[in-house]
Amino acid sequence: MNWFKTKAVRANSTNNTERRIAIILITVFLFPALAFSVFELSQLNKNEEIIQEIYKDQLDAILFSINQYSNDILDQWTKVLSDFPKAEQPEDFLLEFLEFNPTISQITFFTIDTSLNTANTLTYSAVESELIVKDKLNDNFLELNDEKESTLLKLAEFIENDYQKIEVLESLSDSLLPMTFALKKPYKGYQFCAYMVNPQLFVEEILSPKIQEVARDEFIITSYCDNPDQQVYSTDSINGDEIVSNRKLWLLPNHYLGISLKGNSIDKIVKARTQQNILILLVIDGVLIVGLWLVYRNMRKEILLAQLKSEFVSNVSHEIRTPLAMISIFAETLFEGRISDESKKKSYYKMINDEADRLNRTVNKILNFSRIESGKKRFHFEPVNLQKIAESSLNEYKPQLQLNKFTYQLKTQDNFPLVHADKEAIAEVFNNLIDNAIKYSLNKKEIVLKSYTKSNYAILSVQDFGIGIPEKFQKDIFDKFYRVPNNDIHDTKGTGLGLTLVKHIVDAHKGKIVLKSTENKGSTFLLYFPISQLTL
Ligand code: ADP
Repeated sequence: MNWFKTKAVRANSTNNTERRIAIILITVFLFPALAFSVFELSQLNKNEEIIQEIYKDQLDAILFSINQYSNDILDQWTKVLSDFPKAEQPEDFLLEFLEFNPTISQITFFTIDTSLNTANTLTYSAVESELIVKDKLNDNFLELNDEKESTLLKLAEFIENDYQKIEVLESLSDSLLPMTFALKKPYKGYQFCAYMVNPQLFVEEILSPKIQEVARDEFIITSYCDNPDQQVYSTDSINGDEIVSNRKLWLLPNHYLGISLKGNSIDKIVKARTQQNILILLVIDGVLIVGLWLVYRNMRKEILLAQLKSEFVSNVSHEIRTPLAMISIFAETLFEGRISDESKKKSYYKMINDEADRLNRTVNKILNFSRIESGKKRFHFEPVNLQKIAESSLNEYKPQLQLNKFTYQLKTQDNFPLVHADKEAIAEVFNNLIDNAIKYSLNKKEIVLKSYTKSNYAILSVQDFGIGIPEKFQKDIFDKFYRVPNNDIHDTKGTGLGLTLVKHIVDAHKGKIVLKSTENKGSTFLLYFPISQLTL
């Protein structure tokens, strides 16, 4: 009973230690690493946003510079035309100007009197190197409405303050944008000049070199009218939906500039980088988790082993002390001459002998195990009949089997092949298996040994009908010191080394061991020895 208590306390303390290790590993390694990953992931998104912002700003700056350039051009033209009245030969001056700037189709000068009536209209255009002068425009350009009036008055006001501003008066057509500005006094009333710019030509002829210069090989810059699919000019072919940023062309109504990165867009690059970084973080976390799991598992194994070792010491001392105590009692009784009956004396001698055997077996088991552990165990292979070794092992156990009221049988096969094996080691295998079969059979006491061959294997099986081994423990029973934690067998003492030796010996013979066991129905240990490799 006490033993159970100790065992329960030990299991509890093992669980506590395991829990403590798990908590330490999680808090010291896993938690900081995961926290760092989460932080990094959140930063990644932020970084992405920052990069996007910088990128958008850069694109805007590029578009701004093009807009600025087009303003500069219009400013230059305006400046030249505002000097027109001072020209010595005004008509030559205008002809030259119109011929030099085909983007401008005609230039109109007009005045507005104080009652806001237009007058003195003169329109110049160049046809085949001749300046054509008309005193009227053939449309409603100069029929002033409220909007035009206020624009013109504003321009006049600006020029009075020495600031020459350009405004687009209502377009005459898609190809005629009247760029209008006020001329400086000394004219009576207000005098204005409107030069008609063809926006498409303006973009194609004037802006395109600048756009190309700015775009270099890095960007695609497009100028379009109304929507991205109506492209006027583009440095490269591009779909409307690929445009990342766009801006209005300041002086050309309904005209826009769009821009995107050549090749991969920055969005895609940033996204790919982010995905790559996330993947790397996940892989690192995964490796860390697997690593920690392995560390935890190893530590758990070590703890379990330490616990099994301490149990082993207590078991072994019991295994040694019991036969020693028996031997000492029987020997003392005989020595003091308290037994006179010869047959009783004989049975005492026999018991001393049996206990000495038991002691011997335990000590041998421990010595063999120690040899295996230190790699010093040597095998002496020779052609042997495994069937015969099994038989002699069973014979050795006969007295014990009879004493414990076991029925037993050995089913053999004729012409059983010889196998290259170590006699003593194989005998130890059978001894251990038979020993276990006796120890772990409580109700139905029957043992069957079988030998047969099957597909190049010499097979020997030891079958009992005892307590069996629950499936979940079956994978552990060959581990050193391991004993199935089952209440029934705690009464049965052992070292937890028998099956470790069996497995090691079978492995050394290049064989394999198969366990078939059902709880409360019994167990069969099947030993497979390859014939082809070992037969002489
Ligand atoms: P032990 O000295 O405890 O018998 P072993 O290595 O021989 O050590 O066996 C390991 C454990 O496997 C045993 O403690 C027992 O729980 C279980 N076991 C081994 N053989 C049998 C069997 N024939 N029937 C039931 N359980 C067994």
